[in-house]
Order: sequence, then structure tokens, then C-alpha cells
Amino acid sequence: MVSNYDVAIIGGGPAGIMAAISASQNNQKIILIEKNSSLGKKLLLTGDGRCNITNQNFIKKETVKSLGKQGDFLLSALSQFGFKETRDFFEKNGLELEIQENGKAFPVTQKSKDVLQLLIQQLKEKNIKILLNSKVSRIERKENSISKIILNDKKEIIANNYILATGGKSYPSTGSTGDGFSFSESLGHTLNELRPALCPIQVKEKWTKELSGLSLSNIGLNVFSDNNILKKWKGDILFAHFGLTGPLILDISSEIDEMMKKQKIIIAIDLFPDKPVDIYQLINKNRNKNIKKILSLIIPQRLVSYVLSFSKINPNKKGNSILKQERLKLEGILNKITLHPIGLLGFDKAMITKGGVSLKEIDSKTMKSKIIDNLFFAGEIIDLHGPCGGYNLQICWTTGYLAGKSVV
Ligand SMILES: Cc1cc2nc3c(=O)[nH]c(=O)nc-3n(C[C@H](O)[C@H](O)[C@H](O)COP(=O)(O)OP(=O)(O)OC[C@H]3O[C@@H](n4cnc5c(N)ncnc54)[C@H](O)[C@@H]3O)c2cc1C
Repeated sequence: MVSNYDVAIIGGGPAGIMAAISASQNNQKIILIEKNSSLGKKLLLTGDGRCNITNQNFIKKETVKSLGKQGDFLLSALSQFGFKETRDFFEKNGLELEIQENGKAFPVTQKSKDVLQLLIQQLKEKNIKILLNSKVSRIERKENSISKIILNDKKEIIANNYILATGGKSYPSTGSTGDGFSFSESLGHTLNELRPALCPIQVKEKWTKELSGLSLSNIGLNVFSDNNILKKWKGDILFAHFGLTGPLILDISSEIDEMMKKQKIIIAIDLFPDKPVDIYQLINKNRNKNIKKILSLIIPQRLVSYVLSFSKINPNKKGNSILKQERLKLEGILNKITLHPIGLLGFDKAMITKGGVSLKEIDSKTMKSKIIDNLFFAGEIIDLHGPCGGYNLQICWTTGYLAGKSVV
């Protein structure tokens, strides 16, 4: 069976849905094809179920520029549909956004399902045909154009234009299994290396398991190789049974991944990155307490016994009998708790995929392929990714909007 449309969009995540809504401005006959039994499975997981829709800081030129080549690619796109337009879109359609001090925007209801519901309502109002449980298994090309797409049930769809919005490879259980990457390659596009990003880090040390769930705020995280410091960061981390996660870890995970490819590295936690604690004074003031008690005045209780065992100090030793060498050792540990990273936890646990269809082969104003005449891209399939904080969904809204608007 063959069906004909003006636009066929492959992938019903945030990028594909926004592309469909945007394409409807041009009064076209649109079909949105999704292999799952429902749309936006990954969108529902975002922001721990609260959906960090966008980030106000994405309007700052320096924030965009800090993304390097990706930022250059996004500058004009964000000026067409950026933070303000995204906020207007959701608010005009009945979902107010709440902006936090750090720029993160969430729906006031704090529910990602409200975001999805709004999007689905828009698709319905715009009479967009939604085809669920339908996996695109093949894309056929004739000269420089796509001639048709074939679904797993052998149905064929012919459209004037096609938008690939199949997402990345992370959290494959949500449907993002990287199908679009193989389609793109088979159509002649170049793929930049695919790596898990915004991903927890696995470490050799088993003791992190005992501290699982303990978060440390505003700590320093330094990376060393052969005793030389390679990089320093500050932020919030969380211990997990496999190693480390939390906002800072997710944001730096790609850099750690790159560093590990080149050399052996050590990650060191600095509990007092701004100002070292005067341990001498602290012990002196609490001479009659045991060191375990003294330390719990300045670091989380759960961490105390580990810091003491790394410093090789008996936890019951009184402050007045701590030796100078012990005190110096303790000072050193508080500024350098070392961990040996094994690697990132992998695509199963990565929030996004780094890499994807090369930016060189996509027009940054329209998201149109420079290789295939009737192909456009939207969302994570493109070699674009931002830090945690709503940037990745904004990339989906922006590229989805532009691709949809441009398919005429
Ligand atoms: C746990 C988690 C939390 C996150 N939280 C945030 C957050 O708060 N803020 C933020 O900005 N970003 C967040 N992200 C990232 C964000 O979810 C992604 O950037 C975004 O979902 C990418 O959207 P997309 O539409 O490009 O792809 P996806 O959301 O992956 O959607 C692609 C769709 O295409 C479908 N598909 C794939 N292949 C085929 C095929 N062959 N045929 C038919 N359909 C197909 C898939 O089933 C899927 O539904 C989070 C990610 C994760 C995993």
C-alpha cells in the first residue's frame, strides 16, 4: 500500500513533533511516523519527569559561542526560534513556564506529561496524521532525492519532503536506537563519531557504592595525569554505586571521555576549593573530641570514616593526640580524594549522543541537507549538543521549527 503526503517526518520525539507543528503553517499534508506505541517517550523522562524545556541563558551570545562550531551553526537558528519564541509557544498554548535563577525553564506544573500533552493537542488541532507502531525500515533514494520510505509492515510512504528526527542512540529503551544515523549514512551523509555524553562516570574504587546517594555541593573536581593538573572544575556531584554522577559530572563527562582516550587520568575531589580549612585551628579548638566528631563539623557524616581511613588515622583518636604528620595527611586528603575513572557508563545511561550528522552538510538556516534535495534534519540526530539545563531540548525546538518551516 502506498500513501502520499507533502511532508513525512520520521521520529515522534520533541524535534519531530515541533517540525510537524511548524510545517503545518504552510497548509501541507503531513504525516508523523513513530515506531513506539506513543509519542515522546524520552521527553517524558526529561528533567526527572519535570522537563527542563529550555534555558534563558541560551539568548546570551557568549553562551552560544561557548559551544564552538556548534554555537556558530546555531546562532542564526536561535535568532529565528530561540528561548523567547519557545516560551511564547508554550505559554500561548496554555502552559506557563517558570524560570529559575540559573536560567532553567520548567513548566509551572513541573510535569513533563503536560508538555507532551500540549504538543499532542497541537498536532491534533493541526490535523497532522500520526502513525504509531510504525518503524521506518528503509529509505530509498533516486538520484539526489528520497523517492520513498518503507515501513516494517511493508507499507510505503511517498512525500515531497522528508524530515529525519529519529534522535540519537542514548536511552535506547525510549526508541532512540540510532536508526537515523544509518539512514543518513546510506543517503551519503557523513557521521561524526557517536559517543555517549551527559553521562555518569564509572570508577575503579568500590567504596563509592557505600556512599551512593550522597551529594556534595560546590566542590572542586580536578583531573590529573602523571601528577600534572589537566583541568579544574567546580560544581555539584553525587556518589553512585558505579562511581560518580550529578550535574557537574554529566556536564564534564565528554571532556573526561576525550582525556581518557589520550592518557591515564585521575579524578580528584577537592572538598574545599575556595579556601582550605585550617585543620590545625579546628583540631585545637576541639582538642577533647575524637577526630571523627571533629571532622563531622566540616564534612558530611557519611564521608568522615572514608576520609579518616584514607588518612590512616584512628577515628577514635582525640584531637589533642593527633600528630603533625597525621594532620598534614588529613589536609591533603580533604583537598584530594582520588578516583580512577574506567570510562563513561555508556549509551544506556547517557542523556544524549555526542556526534551525528555533520554540520557541514546541513544548511544552518533551514536544516536542509546539502546532499539530498528533499531531506531535512531536526534534533539530536544532528551533530549538536549542549550542556545540562534545557539546552538540548531547545536545540530540538529550534531545529524542529526551522526544518518544518522550510519544507515548502
Ligand atoms: C533521562 C533523560 C533526561 C533528559 N532531560 C533533559 C532535560 O531536562 N532538558 C533537556 O534539554 N534535555 C534533556 N534530555 C535530552 C533530551 O531528551 C533529548 O535531547 C531529546 O529527547 C532529543 O529529541 P529528538 O526528538 O531529537 O529525539 P528523541 O527524543 O530520541 O525522539 C526520536 C524518536 O524517533 C523514534 N524513531 C527512531 N527511529 C525510528 C524509526 N526507524 N522509525 C520510526 N520512529 C523512529 C524514536 O522512537 C523516538 O520516539 C534528557 C535525556 C534523557 C535520556
